[in-house]
Amino acid sequence: MQLLEKLVTTPGIPGREEKIRELIKDELNKIADEVKVDGMGNVIGIKKGKSSSKNEAKKVMVAAHMDEIGFLVKHIDKKGFLRLEPLGGFDARALVSQRVIVHGKEELLGNLAPSTKPPHMLSAEEAKKKLEVKDFFVDLGLDGDKVKELVNIGDPVTLKQDFVELGNSYSAKAMDDRIGVYVMLEAAKELDYHEADIYLVATVQEEVGLRGGKTSAFGIDPDVGIALDVTIANDIPGSKEDEMVASLGEGAAIKIMDAASISNYKVIDTLKEIAEDKELSYQMELMAKGGTDAGAMQQSRAGIPTAGISIPTRYVHTVNEMVDKDDVNSAVKLLSEFLKTCHEKDFSL
Ligand SMILES: [Zn+2]
Repeated sequence: MQLLEKLVTTPGIPGREEKIRELIKDELNKIADEVKVDGMGNVIGIKKGKSSSKNEAKKVMVAAHMDEIGFLVKHIDKKGFLRLEPLGGFDARALVSQRVIVHGKEELLGNLAPSTKPPHMLSAEEAKKKLEVKDFFVDLGLDGDKVKELVNIGDPVTLKQDFVELGNSYSAKAMDDRIGVYVMLEAAKELDYHEADIYLVATVQEEVGLRGGKTSAFGIDPDVGIALDVTIANDIPGSKEDEMVASLGEGAAIKIMDAASISNYKVIDTLKEIAEDKELSYQMELMAKGGTDAGAMQQSRAGIPTAGISIPTRYVHTVNEMVDKDDVNSAVKLLSEFLKTCHEKDFSL
């Protein structure tokens, strides 16, 4: 199986990243000089720079979150239906007719369904009711006693979807933000010579409030930070041109701002220079809603110069998240070039 496919199909909801953490640890062990896990579960791979100067090496932190949106089992009823607590921002409309995996004593496949009637039985008034995430339950096809034997309150539930290649794109669940993890790993593999000490961090609990990014940035205390995450590619029917955040196939997105951060303009300029110089396709990103680990890093300690490299993604927070292969490649190149040269730069304001 390809690395990206493994990354998107391995489960890891906020706070229960153990399986995806093991996979990333294994990958980082092939690349980094040292790999450690902090108290919250962030995985940190350190690649020491070959510093030519006597000065202490600069520290650059790259963050990509390894958690994916999902649920916790919060109630099991007599008939064995499960009620869920969502972890991360779901749109109820994207949950209709989905399948889930309940990670109980064993992995159980289930149908996710809203407590509504089949269309045949709905009155006109009932059909107008807006679905909410709390309307959904899981049907495991098992009776209550069997379910209670296999499932406990607090067990993780993840969405089920296959990884596929569609034309020039990849589509899967959890592309947010395993594609960021993938870009981080691939960029690190491309590094030959670098002077900065590079901290490759797969963060936890980003989807519930940038929590792992906060503690890992505090622990590392970097000189500069780059967050890797998806951004909204709304280049689809029904979007207005002036509301466009990013488009598929137009290159890696350099973050100007998101809801949790405004990037350091000197880091932005450096990323743009690299993209121009290396003839990498890129686009500029302004995402008014939705934050990333850039916000957590930037506001760590006394403030860290930070920007983001984003991967344009269609259908974010659905099981069909879709990225363009060329955009992914340009993000890998842009990051690796930045890591090779960032020790020469002064990002202080
Ligand atoms: Zn994300």
